[in-house]
Order: sequence, then C-alpha cells, then structure tokens
Amino acid sequence: MNNNHVTVLEIDAKAVLHNLAYFKQKLQPTTKILVVVKAFGYGSESTEIAKIVQDHVDYFAVAYSNEGIALREAGITTPILVLNPQIQNLKDIVKYRLEPNLYSFKIFDAFLKLADEEPLMNYPIHLKFNTGLNRVGFWHTDVPTIVAELKKSNNVKVESMFSHLAASEDLNEQEFTTGQINNFAYIVKQVYEHLGYQPMIHILNTSGIINYPQAQFDMVRLGIGLYGFGNDEQETTQLKNTHTLKSIISQINIVQPGETVGYNRAFVASQPTRSATIPIGHADGISRKLGNKNGFVFINNQPAPIIGNVCMDMIMVDVTKIDCNEGDEVIIFNHQQHVEYMAHKCETISYEILTALSQRIKRLVKH
Ligand SMILES: *Cc1c(COP(=O)(O)O)cnc(C)c1O
Repeated sequence: MNNNHVTVLEIDAKAVLHNLAYFKQKLQPTTKILVVVKAFGYGSESTEIAKIVQDHVDYFAVAYSNEGIALREAGITTPILVLNPQIQNLKDIVKYRLEPNLYSFKIFDAFLKLADEEPLMNYPIHLKFNTGLNRVGFWHTDVPTIVAELKKSNNVKVESMFSHLAASEDLNEQEFTTGQINNFAYIVKQVYEHLGYQPMIHILNTSGIINYPQAQFDMVRLGIGLYGFGNDEQETTQLKNTHTLKSIISQINIVQPGETVGYNRAFVASQPTRSATIPIGHADGISRKLGNKNGFVFINNQPAPIIGNVCMDMIMVDVTKIDCNEGDEVIIFNHQQHVEYMAHKCETISYEILTALSQRIKRLVKH
C-alpha cells in the first residue's frame, strides 16, 4: 500500500533494543529469548521489529501462519514459532519453514500425517500444555499417547514444550501461578522420561519474567515488555517508550457559544472555542470512549482534550488556550503513561490500545 498518510506511528528502534536489554539482564546467561511479534508487533510493524532485534534473540513467535510468512518474505531467517496454527495452514507452515505449536490431537495428528506424506525429516514442532489457562493445549493425561505417537516417527522432532500463565502479572494469584509452573515441570518430567531426548521448555511471558524468575527454564517469551510495558508501574518506568503516534492539525475553527462540534452535536460551546480537527479517528484505533474530554492529545507540549464524539476518520480537540496553527504537529501519545491513561479511560489494557492501531496509519522506524 502506498501510504503517505500524515498520521504516523513512529517506532523507536533504540528504545526497543533498550527494552530487550532490560529483560535480558533479568535472565540467566544461558536462558534463550523468544520475542513475540504477533498482531503486527503489538500494533507496530512486525518485520521492522524483527529486523531490529534479530541478531539478539533466539526465536520469534507469531499467532497465525500468515504473520510468519510475512516475516519470511521480509528475509527473516530466525526460527519462528506459530502459536495458533490451523489445520488449513499446515502446508504453508512447512513451505515457509515455520514451526507449528501443536496443541491438540486434531492438529497434532494432521501434522504427523502431513509430515509422513511429504515426507519431512526431524521437522521442528512445539507442544503446548494446558496448566490452567484453559485456552489451547494438551492436558497432562495426554502425555502417554503423545509420546507413543512421536516414538513411531522420525518425521518430526519436538523442539520445545511450553505452557502459558493465566495471571502472571497478578501477585494475588501467586499460589495459582506457582501451581501452573509445578504442573508444567511435572508434565515435562513425564515426557523427558519417555521420549528419549529433551526438548527446550518455556512458560514465562513478560510479567512472568518479572515475577517468577525461578521459572525461566530454557527460554522465555517476551511480548509487551519489548514494547515498553511491564504491567507494573515500577517496571514500566525502567522501560523506554517505543510507539509514538503523531498527526497534524488539518483545520482550526472558532465556534461561538451555543454552537456545537461534531456528530450528534455532542460538544456545545459555552464560550468562544477554538477547535482543531485532526485526521485520526475510531477507524484508526482511537476509541469513541475517548471522546467528550475523556482523552487528550498534545499540541506544542500542551494537553488538548478531545471534544464531542470521535468520528471514523477525525477527532476535534479544544485548542482555545494553545498557540497553534493549521499544519502543526499533534502528539496523540508518546509515552507509556499516556497509553495507560487511554487504556484506563477505555476500560481496557495497554495491549488493546496498541494492537487496535489500524494498518491505515503509516509506520516509520527511527533508528
Ligand atoms: C502473546 C503471548 C505471549 C506474550 O505475552 P506478553 O504478556 O505480551 O509478554 C507469550 N506467550 C504466548 C503463548 C502468547 O500468546
């Protein structure tokens, strides 16, 4: 897509590398690191993120096979784990040398069948075990059948076994989380005893790295932390902001008392008001919940509240007290605290604010 849109998401490569280094110093020297670049790199640009960090990481993970294909087509050669493959995509997974997470017998059997037909030799696969999230994953009772199947074939090789924590950021759930970790260790032991070799094992996401350093095992999976969020105020202050969302003022209007701004006439001027129109709207990921002064942007370093309803492609902000002109730069956000504020106002989490940023917004990497 030829994208010369004036609304731009800047990705700060140095900040990304800082955040990676911050988490690396929490790891044992031998612990490997997988970087999660699903959902366009948490709303940024997955191939750019991958290029920035590829020399410093061991693995990438994506959610779906087409996200992995995009990385391969951009020349990324690092191993790529596909967390949520579907049976329909298994041929593509092999074609692009992506590594499937096989999480149920349905997809496990389908992949073993494909591996036999091709035939593949020692093709890297990953097994996910459910230890309490109850989303996708084998159950501990499945271990004997899995091992028996694997022993029949040398078409595939288990590169890793993993699980995912349900509440790693919540210290009130420490007992539950420790239980998940212990269950996982028990499952791993069963597999190790019967498989004849020892795949890598991993369970920690960003908050897991922070709160459960004793469970690093062979590898950790870093997602939101790379993008500057530690799910904890203290941790986040150690991280650098990676996403800066910018636009410009399209037009400035003066509205008189009694006049209104935007759809449904939601903002009514009680005094002469200068309103600036900015080309970003709910189709770009700016929630309608941020309208009516719930959200604000920065113009010339001063906060300008969003007035009236957020439109599909535009917002209007109050610049009565701000010295500014049409064409001036607008900062939608350039700090994690601002994103957290938006998340709070939208009753959501930073993950959703970032991943909601639509593909219409131009992406630019600052090195
Ligand atoms: C998304 C995801 C991660 C990354 O989680 P963060 O909280 O962003 O670090 C890790 N593992 C799995 C299985 C995931 O789906």
